[in-house]
Amino acid sequence: MFLEPNVNNSKTGWIEVVCGSMFSGKTEELIRRLKRAKIANLKVEIFKPMIDTRYHESEVVSHDANSIMSTPVSSSQNILLLSSDVQVVGIDEAQFFDDGLPEVCDRLAEKGVRVIIAGLDMDFMGRPFGPIPALLAKAEYITKVHAICVRCGALANHSYRLVEGDSKVLLGEKESYEPRCRECFNKGISEHKQK
Ligand code: ZN
Repeated sequence: MFLEPNVNNSKTGWIEVVCGSMFSGKTEELIRRLKRAKIANLKVEIFKPMIDTRYHESEVVSHDANSIMSTPVSSSQNILLLSSDVQVVGIDEAQFFDDGLPEVCDRLAEKGVRVIIAGLDMDFMGRPFGPIPALLAKAEYITKVHAICVRCGALANHSYRLVEGDSKVLLGEKESYEPRCRECFNKGISEHKQK
């Protein structure tokens, strides 16, 4: 379990990344950390990419309906503009942000902000996703969470897509994806190629 380092004593900020496949509990972990920051009376702002409109316009909503209010933004630069006077910035679905996000997070951390990012580390083909690899390189703290493979019960680190299409952005996830381990993911991909 992640425990906050010196939350009230640190003069400089830092970057935390919570990554993993779909159904791995990333957003739940983000919400847990943000709620603890609020308990510590820190000023918290939460952002998500405007593309993610699955449930509600202005909330980070996880699958267990344990939700927290957030602001949808169209570009990473807007996060800088909207976080003056904030101590903790949470960013959900960070894989859908533009490549400017790592630099924005650096700037925030340099200003003394604690930045907590949640995002998919890989897309449905197992490729590193958007700005997440660069954020992992820059982060002080990384937590990789896992789902359970629905085929064999092992730890899952892949999001296997059950429907056709090449678009990286496919929402309505529960019906379209399932968590799979490396072996079951590769099996699915090769069966798909043989069709
Ligand atoms: Zn498996």
